[in-house]
Amino acid sequence: MRQEALTRWTSENAAELYGIRNWGAGYYDVAANGEVVVRPGGVRGGVELSLMSLVKRLEKRGLNMPVVIRFANILASQIAQINESFRKAIREAGYAGKYRGVFPIKVNQQSEIVEDITEFGAQYHHGLEAGSKAELIAAVSHMHDPEALIVCNGYKDEEYLDLALHAQNMGVQTLIVIEMPDELDLILERAAKLHLKPRLGVRAKLSSRAGGHWDASGGDRSKFGLDASQIIELVDSLRQKQMLDCLQLLHYHLGSQVSDIRKVRNALQEACRFYVDLYREGAPLGMLNIGGGLAVDYDGSHSNFASSTNYSIAEYASDVVEVIKKNLDQAGIPHPMIVSESGRATAAHHSVFIFNILDVRRFEPKTIPDRLSVDSSEMLENLLEVCQTLTPRNVQEAYHDAVYYREEIRGLFLHGDVTLRERALGESIFWRIIRRITELVKDRKYIPDEMESMDSAIADVYYGNFSVFQSVPDFWAVDQLFPVMPIHRLNERPTRRGVIADITCDSDGKIDRFIDLHDVRHVLELHELKSDEEYYVGVFLTGAYQETIGDMHNLIGNTNALHVWIGPDGKITDSKEISGDRIDEILTYMEYSPADVLKRIETRAEKAVHAKMINAREKQALMKAYRVGISGYTYFEK
Ligand SMILES: *Cc1c(COP(=O)(O)O)cnc(C)c1O
Repeated sequence: MRQEALTRWTSENAAELYGIRNWGAGYYDVAANGEVVVRPGGVRGGVELSLMSLVKRLEKRGLNMPVVIRFANILASQIAQINESFRKAIREAGYAGKYRGVFPIKVNQQSEIVEDITEFGAQYHHGLEAGSKAELIAAVSHMHDPEALIVCNGYKDEEYLDLALHAQNMGVQTLIVIEMPDELDLILERAAKLHLKPRLGVRAKLSSRAGGHWDASGGDRSKFGLDASQIIELVDSLRQKQMLDCLQLLHYHLGSQVSDIRKVRNALQEACRFYVDLYREGAPLGMLNIGGGLAVDYDGSHSNFASSTNYSIAEYASDVVEVIKKNLDQAGIPHPMIVSESGRATAAHHSVFIFNILDVRRFEPKTIPDRLSVDSSEMLENLLEVCQTLTPRNVQEAYHDAVYYREEIRGLFLHGDVTLRERALGESIFWRIIRRITELVKDRKYIPDEMESMDSAIADVYYGNFSVFQSVPDFWAVDQLFPVMPIHRLNERPTRRGVIADITCDSDGKIDRFIDLHDVRHVLELHELKSDEEYYVGVFLTGAYQETIGDMHNLIGNTNALHVWIGPDGKITDSKEISGDRIDEILTYMEYSPADVLKRIETRAEKAVHAKMINAREKQALMKAYRVGISGYTYFEK
């Protein structure tokens, strides 16, 4: 501790501690004044803007925390990166086909985002992917580029097919991907009704696997796709109907966040074999759709760890082009247009979720006496001795002893041989020991597994004004890690170590796993709260899936959001503030009528007046509180 105090702490130390330059992809950094800045131009440099300045601006306008801030520039930059990477790879490899990206709407369906993507993507003819009727309608409404594709995936009923076919009729490039063996007949029937030749794709079930959290969405076990024999049946059936020329696209989707480039290559290799043989069967094809899966480096470790990735967008593009070229050249088949459906990699970086800390429960072990009273339990004496003889050399032994004696004391308590007061003293001594052990092993490279969770056991609990289930659902649902860090005060040394609990009543409602270059950390360095200043924490790279998968656990709804475009001078030139759900909106969503709810409460209050539990004035005040409350934000307000 003393040594720490001697070295000066600057924002550079914070940048290193939180790894922001590893995962920030050039978009996020720490400025010398200790605030996190966003660089909308990314690695290409340019202006920067402090997140705190945006928070202040929002609060001035009455948009309270928590809030999602979306940087449209970053969306534009990621779309450019994906498209430029493929263009470069195609040029360098002498590949004869083009690249066309599509954005899968399910990754973030917000209207502003889909609109931005079609606008920024126009110069690349970047299209959209829809997986349901609602998504298809949204896609068609935003898509004006006759050269961009709309790929139609998912379960399809008559209506879905009619929507896709009608759109094709007015010049939208809809491609209907057959995902189930029995979809064909219905598609052909609807197309015939509209006197159209449908443009068909087929989704192949590969045996290659993605690994990681999303493994089941690809491979043999995947819900969608046709296996080899079903694809052959489809080909035969199309040929028999003289409609094999409708089959223009081969599609597969390995799953999301494929962290390992070898898995990407293996699956593509297998898909190329499908492509070659389908072509030889007589299907014209012309498009190979490699699905999503392009991974995001959430922890910044550049590894094949589930929350990371061992390849860049550029490497992905050049590997994809290389594998396809090699396979098709060998077979003497024309190079297809390459289509990819990268959602996560397009959208993750552009949004940041920010919340304020409401309170903190500090871990402070009680002071313990130097000696015990003469009649104390022997186990208590032993435990105290462990505490007093702890040295850097015997930490592991001390740890075992402490755990053992604490268990003994608890056992004795059960039998009535140790009093509640003695047990309490035992716990205090135990936590003292654990605290000292964590200080002693802090800088060690290797910490035994059994001692790893000690850190979180003695962490402070910071209560954040947010819901994990609404704003970072994948943290809870699939153990995904996101970078989390304070967005200011970074030129002050963070002296506390904590976990972050949310405002839901759910014991899972907390963030207690944090990114690390080697593994997972169980505590996060945080600052001491100040009584006169809010403390703001950001969760980064939340632009993919989080907003749309989030749910209303505890009837806690959508957060406020700010959608901004930052001009070349660093000023916000275009912004849209979106208010989060109000309590009455959430209630309505759950089939309550807010007017009815208030009436019921009023009736109840009247009864209380009759029963003389409250007077008329108190009733008025009560009703006023409920009327104001019901139109408020579902989060804590100042
Ligand atoms: C979800 C999905 C995607 C998007 O995957 P990312 O990993 O986000 O790029 C692409 N295609 C299909 C068919 C999907 O279901």
